[in-house]
Amino acid sequence: MFNFKIKKKFGKARTGILTTPHGKIKTPGFVPVATKGALKGARFKDIKEMGADVFIINTFHFYCKKEYETVEKMGGLHKFLSIDYPLMTDSGGFQVFSLGSGYEQKTGKILKEKTSLTKKGESMVRIEEDKVSFKSPFDGNRVEITPESSVKAQEKLGADIIFAFDECTSPLAPYEYQKKSLQKTHRWAEQSIGALKNKEQRMMGIVQGGGFEDLRKESARFISSLPFFGFGIGGSFGESFGDSKENMYGILDILSEELPSAKPRHLLGIGEPEDLIEGALRGVDLFDCVIPTRFARHGAALTSGGRINIKSAKYREDKSPLDEDCSCLICQNYKKSYLHHLARKDEIYGIMLLTEHNLYFILNLMKEIRSAILNENILSFREEFLRKYKH
Ligand SMILES: [Zn+2]
Repeated sequence: MFNFKIKKKFGKARTGILTTPHGKIKTPGFVPVATKGALKGARFKDIKEMGADVFIINTFHFYCKKEYETVEKMGGLHKFLSIDYPLMTDSGGFQVFSLGSGYEQKTGKILKEKTSLTKKGESMVRIEEDKVSFKSPFDGNRVEITPESSVKAQEKLGADIIFAFDECTSPLAPYEYQKKSLQKTHRWAEQSIGALKNKEQRMMGIVQGGGFEDLRKESARFISSLPFFGFGIGGSFGESFGDSKENMYGILDILSEELPSAKPRHLLGIGEPEDLIEGALRGVDLFDCVIPTRFARHGAALTSGGRINIKSAKYREDKSPLDEDCSCLICQNYKKSYLHHLARKDEIYGIMLLTEHNLYFILNLMKEIRSAILNENILSFREEFLRKYKH
């Protein structure tokens, strides 16, 4: 019922099919994020038809008030959402990071700007040896997550592929912290896989270790010694501002050697167009990221010439489509001028149109990456794409 078949390898890159009880996932593939059980601004059916094979939902949003119990009573996520294709859930670990160090240090998984380790007031999150506890952002109550409770919630949600509970560390965390945290993540990985009882689900173990090559190697070796179906590449990258992407690509090079090649690898929460190409070149099979949907809500469109801000005054009377090279329905039917107008007026319809285009752009990019691997021209494809794509 579950398997992963690699059709073609070219260097470290590979393309194949991951089969689940709810259908097949073409790899390398992009997994749109349906945070709270919805793609913000698009229908599952439309995005599925555009080429998305699988969606990921954040367990955290069903955890704090135990909504996973409601979902279980409704027959599980597939029935609850009325969809019958593959689904994933994450463990909740990343949202804890966002509430904790991610929020306090104003940082994401990749450092975007210079920032410092200043802390003000009491942390919302307490990371202990056997659990994480935090003040719920929904009602202020204290909530705890353990590896077992995360798996239990994910079992009740019933997605096809689920993730082990881990600590997602900050890119600013020093070596000593990362090393100590890694031992905890490894212990939690053992507890997570031990807690999974549902035979209809498969679990990915998560490799951590921040931007440190020796820790990533150690983590890859330990996690691949456990009976996981595949691997999530989690956490943050980079030790200082400016080197994060290079650091991530270096780590992916190492992991492509260390992780058993027959199992799928999912790079968690990373998905700028250049990262999808560089990741696929380094043997990543799946990516998920909120960029296509989040950008749309801020009036940003991904195009083959780079990211554009449709709110910019220069588009007020622009009769061209968002992207001349894009064959999505939005680019076939609408002019920048109208999309500019909708974005300036904060119209929900404008967000819907941009969301559809952005998801199409990324899903189409994955399709091109798969065929470039198959045709052994992924290197020239990268060169051509990056030549046009401006930041
Ligand atoms: Zn388009």
